[in-house]
Amino acid sequence: MSMDPQLIQTIVREVLASLEADTQQTPDSSVPIAISARHVHLSEEHIEQLFGKGYQLTKRADLSQPGQFAAEETVHIAGPKGSFTRVRVLGPARKLTQVEVSQTDTITLGVSAPVRESGDIAGSAGVTLIGPKGSLYLNEGLIVAQAHIHMSPQDAARYQVQDQEYVEVLIDSDRPLRFQRVKVRVSDRYRLEMHIDTDEANAAFLQKKGRGQLIKAGEVVPQQIALEQTQVKQVSSERITYTKKLLTKEDVESLQGKEVRLPKGTIVTDLAKDFARERGIALSFETGK
Ligand SMILES: [Zn+2]
Repeated sequence: MSMDPQLIQTIVREVLASLEADTQQTPDSSVPIAISARHVHLSEEHIEQLFGKGYQLTKRADLSQPGQFAAEETVHIAGPKGSFTRVRVLGPARKLTQVEVSQTDTITLGVSAPVRESGDIAGSAGVTLIGPKGSLYLNEGLIVAQAHIHMSPQDAARYQVQDQEYVEVLIDSDRPLRFQRVKVRVSDRYRLEMHIDTDEANAAFLQKKGRGQLIKAGEVVPQQIALEQTQVKQVSSERITYTKKLLTKEDVESLQGKEVRLPKGTIVTDLAKDFARERGIALSFETGK
């Protein structure tokens, strides 16, 4: 039998409303995002080489992470193919000098730098630093920073994640993007913020700041996003496990199997049920929790 289009509209509205109510009950997984432009961290020794004996960095502005600041000082960085002038120095001084650039920047410089966590510079790329009082060639220290999230132990408990764990972050922008292998870094000195570079921000169409949704690896995608994606895991040609929250007639049409297992709580529209029956597709719910 066919259904009245008006009735279908009503059903869709009801289902969407119930999904929205569900979403509002789930804890907030939103994370603020800051974009890091290319910058330099300098050791005491290198500050002196570039700016002069006994030189101290001058604070220009505090950064979001407590104690970290953007300095008034800038340096030039140069590679075999190109250079950048006025690259911001961040303070305070560190044990090891580190230059963080985007992948696009490495192309301009003419070097190939690895994606690394801050501080992990062994075997990374080399670069020349030029300051007002001198210059130096850094054998290693040029990296493309890996996307990461700083958070306090309280935040980590709230998101149920651990220090050094990899998570995913969904960006809902004009060009939505899902970041994978985002490193969680937990310390009571940290303030909640995800750090990405300018290439990553541009890819996700973010300007200045943004927000993303933290997803634990293996976690079901939040409902409002799941609605836009059909995620069908092919178990065998005959049996299929469906991982979306809402099963519509269109979804049933796209399924090839004769038996479809649905996670408990999946909403099946009446139209989908009718259609499955017509096609002889068995819909069943997974048991257990
Ligand atoms: Zn950071």
